[in-house]
Amino acid sequence: MQSKVNIEDNNNNKTKFIFITGGVMSGLGKGVITSSTAKLLQLLGLKVSCIKIDPYVNYDAGTMNPIAHGEVFVTEDGGECDMDIGNYERFLDIAMTKDHNITTGRVYLDVIQSEREGKYLGQCVQIIPHITDAIKNRLRKVANDEGLDIVVVECGGTIGDIESLPFLEALRQIKLEDGHSNTLFIHVTLAPVLDVVGEQKTKPTQHSVQELRRIGIQPDILAVRCKTPLTFDARRKISLFASVEEKCVISCYDAPSIYKVPEVLESQGMIKVIAENLLLKNCHLQWRDWKSIAKSFYDYNGFVKIAVVGKYVTLPDSYVSIYHALSHASAHIGRKVEVEWIDSEEFEQNRRGVGEQEPKNSSNLSFLRKFDGILVPGGFGRRGSEGIINVANFSRQENIPYLGICFGFQLAIIAFARNACNLQGASSTELDPNTKDPVIVFMPEQRSMHNMGGTMRLGKHKITIIPHTNASRIYGGNKTNVIYRRHRHRYEFNQDYRKLIENHGMVLSGHSDNGRRIEMLEIAKHKFYFAVQYHSEFNSRPGIPEQAFEAFIKAAASTS
Ligand code: GLN
Repeated sequence: MQSKVNIEDNNNNKTKFIFITGGVMSGLGKGVITSSTAKLLQLLGLKVSCIKIDPYVNYDAGTMNPIAHGEVFVTEDGGECDMDIGNYERFLDIAMTKDHNITTGRVYLDVIQSEREGKYLGQCVQIIPHITDAIKNRLRKVANDEGLDIVVVECGGTIGDIESLPFLEALRQIKLEDGHSNTLFIHVTLAPVLDVVGEQKTKPTQHSVQELRRIGIQPDILAVRCKTPLTFDARRKISLFASVEEKCVISCYDAPSIYKVPEVLESQGMIKVIAENLLLKNCHLQWRDWKSIAKSFYDYNGFVKIAVVGKYVTLPDSYVSIYHALSHASAHIGRKVEVEWIDSEEFEQNRRGVGEQEPKNSSNLSFLRKFDGILVPGGFGRRGSEGIINVANFSRQENIPYLGICFGFQLAIIAFARNACNLQGASSTELDPNTKDPVIVFMPEQRSMHNMGGTMRLGKHKITIIPHTNASRIYGGNKTNVIYRRHRHRYEFNQDYRKLIENHGMVLSGHSDNGRRIEMLEIAKHKFYFAVQYHSEFNSRPGIPEQAFEAFIKAAASTS
């Protein structure tokens, strides 16, 4: 995109940086504020992107438990990233690469590898300057490689954490090197209201700004999370104690949809303040259809009720992209999605342990009849898988719209093999290594892999769709018979069972790698029974729902 905004060029065309830090506590919605700030700049016509810094020592998010850390977001180039990358993609509608997620593990690995290669010429390798240099290099490389006007960098964690210190030091150095007009710090804090007092409290913000200053960073803008807009008094007090002009104290009050946050920021002059600091001239925001898209998320006619039956339901963040994809599709047809997260173990028999109460829905699949559709997301390992197989079979028999993603695809095949093809012992070698009928098997390439990190079949692959199937109708009619979607799996359909499955009425409607892998399945005489080996949720955007989700929600909405 050609930027029409006039950027004062006092830095040899270098990218400008906006750094977002967090104070007080985690979970304030820094990711949404980062994405919304970047969105505003994009709507000005600037070439902008985001980077997430995760101060944990893991190399990437791939080996982390989704229940503890939330979803692993997969980038097109196969990065297993923090879920905030998903927010950036959804707000900006651009595909990020794995380089947009920097962790302590990645930075240290860079430095240790260089040290082993003798690149430091006998120096003592230290946090400052070597680790901080490696951090700056990574940030600048993304900015230069992509020719960005502005990059918005979100630093994970909370000010005061030990592990984020080297990152904050690197950001401080960038400000020193590039100057005031090329760098800007936004600090996200919280102004809580204690019910008894009813007054917005500013002390947590004051303390967290002091902590930030102690390490040499003075914020330019404070984005203060609050339930209702900051009162005049609260804003004045924060301004005074934090030494930030009043117009630079922005209320981030609760919005009816995350996609409304850019409007909330802009209505308080966010662009004006950024433009003054970064010397941007000629700023004209073109909202295009963004406001009406945002509105579709809170101005709706009726609901569509979806059951998500999975393994990691105790933390809905483990399925954030699934949730967003469902909400994009629902908003697109003027509905609101109501999701109930259900543990698949609820649908297993003999699950009750000694002395335990009967689980809520144990073997009571009819509980699922109250939903307009059932979605089974990705998952790993045996626990809860029999429950999913029961659910996949139930929705097929009961003609309830079903969308299966990855694990939800594999287990739908097992359910079909067992119940429609009379292969009672059918399973996946992931669930039962000695199964008599391994309809789902370990991919041959995976046999040589010994490490767990980054070794699955990952990232974007080309998928060919068979004409005159539901899949071809879902993905734009018979013209588009090729799509690209992201993957994250080790197991796949065993084509030795292909004939048998097809003879019993399951259509395998998409494939990849010249027919070596099956990517889509469907059952023709069903309201909607569709499952995919890939993760379509990562491609969904507000206003542009991913097609499988769109078709699923349409089918579900037409039953309600
Ligand atoms: N566990 C399955 C596999 O590894 C499915 C993975 C997933 O759902 N992401 O193939």
